[in-house]
Amino acid sequence: MNLKFNRELPSARVVKEMYPLSDKGMERKKENDAALRDIFLGKSDKFILVIGPCSADRSDAVLEYIQRLRGVQDKVKDKIVIVPRIYTNKPRTTGAGYKGMLHQPDPDSKPDMLKGIMAIRKLHLQALEDTGFSCADEMLYPENHSYLSDVLSYVAVGARSVENQMHRLTSSGLDIPVGMKNPTGGMLSVMMNAITAAQASHTFVYSGWEVLSTGNPLAHAILRGYSHKSGHSAPNYHYEDLILLHELYEESGLINPAVIVDTNHANSDKQYDQQPRIAKEILHSMRLSNDIKKLVKGLMIESYLIDGSQKPDGGVYGQSITDPCIGWEKTETMIYEIAELL
Ligand code: PEP
Ligand code: MN
Repeated sequence: MNLKFNRELPSARVVKEMYPLSDKGMERKKENDAALRDIFLGKSDKFILVIGPCSADRSDAVLEYIQRLRGVQDKVKDKIVIVPRIYTNKPRTTGAGYKGMLHQPDPDSKPDMLKGIMAIRKLHLQALEDTGFSCADEMLYPENHSYLSDVLSYVAVGARSVENQMHRLTSSGLDIPVGMKNPTGGMLSVMMNAITAAQASHTFVYSGWEVLSTGNPLAHAILRGYSHKSGHSAPNYHYEDLILLHELYEESGLINPAVIVDTNHANSDKQYDQQPRIAKEILHSMRLSNDIKKLVKGLMIESYLIDGSQKPDGGVYGQSITDPCIGWEKTETMIYEIAELL
C-alpha cells in the first residue's frame, strides 16, 4: 500500500467533548434549522442567502465578516434568512493547491489534519456562540461531517462530488437541507439523481457502523453554471433554465421541489462583481413566473470583506485566497437591494 499511516486522529465524539456546544448555541441552531425547514417545506416564503467567502482561510477575518452579517440579518429578518458560508474544505480541480482550513489551518504551513479538525470545529462553534448563526459548509468528505454535525444548518454537495454514492447516501441521513450542485459538465440528470438518492432511505457503512438512513426530504438542487467541452463557462440561472428545472421536478415525483441559485462560479464565469446583476435577474424571473417563484428558495453568493482574490500567500486580511468574492460594501448593498425586490 502506498499509504503511510501518520497518526490516529480523535473521533468526532472526542472532539465534540473537547469543544462542546452550549445550551444556548443548541437552541439557536434549533431555531435556525426550523426557519430553513419551513422555507423548504413551503410554509414560509422568506428567501435564503447562503453567503460568505469561497474558503474560510483565517478565523479572525471570517468571524469579523459574520459579525457584520449579523447586523444586516437583523435589519432584513422579515424577508431574508442568512446562512453564512464557512467553507473549511475545498475541492480542487486537479488536486493541487490550498485544500482549506481542514488541511491547512495556517495556509502558509504544511498540512496538519489534527490541528485542522480542531480549527474548523472551533471556528464553526465560535460563529454560532458569538453571532447565533449556525452556518453552511461543503460536505466534501462525508465521514468528516460528524465533527460538525451539531453546528451546521446547511450543507452543499459540490459539483465535483455530486455523482458520488457516499455523498448521496450520507446526505440521506442528514436532518438539515442538503444542496446538490449540478456537476461541472452541467448534466442536470446527475443532480436530479443525487436528490432522488438523498431523499430515499438506505442501509450502508458509515464510520465503521452499519447504518440506516431515513431519507432527507430537504435535499434540493443548486444551479452553479457549467463548463462547455471547449472549457468555456456557461450559465444556468436564466428564466429558461429555471423553467426547465421546474419541469424536471414535475416529472421526477420528488418532494419539496427547490433550488438555490449560485451567483458565482460558472454562473458568473467568476466575474464576481456580476453577482448583484445575476441576483436581480433571478428575482425578476421570480416575478414573471409563479412556478419559478415557488421553486427558487434562495441564492448562494461568494462574498468577503475585500473585493476579488489574491494568491494564498498574498497576506491581505479578508480577501479570498480561492474564488474571487464581492467585498463588504457591495455585499451590504446587494442584500438590501434583494430585500427591496422581494
Ligand atoms: C464553492 O462553493 O466554493 C465550490 C467549490 O463550488 P462548486 O462545487 O460549485 O465548484
Ligand atoms: Mn468558490
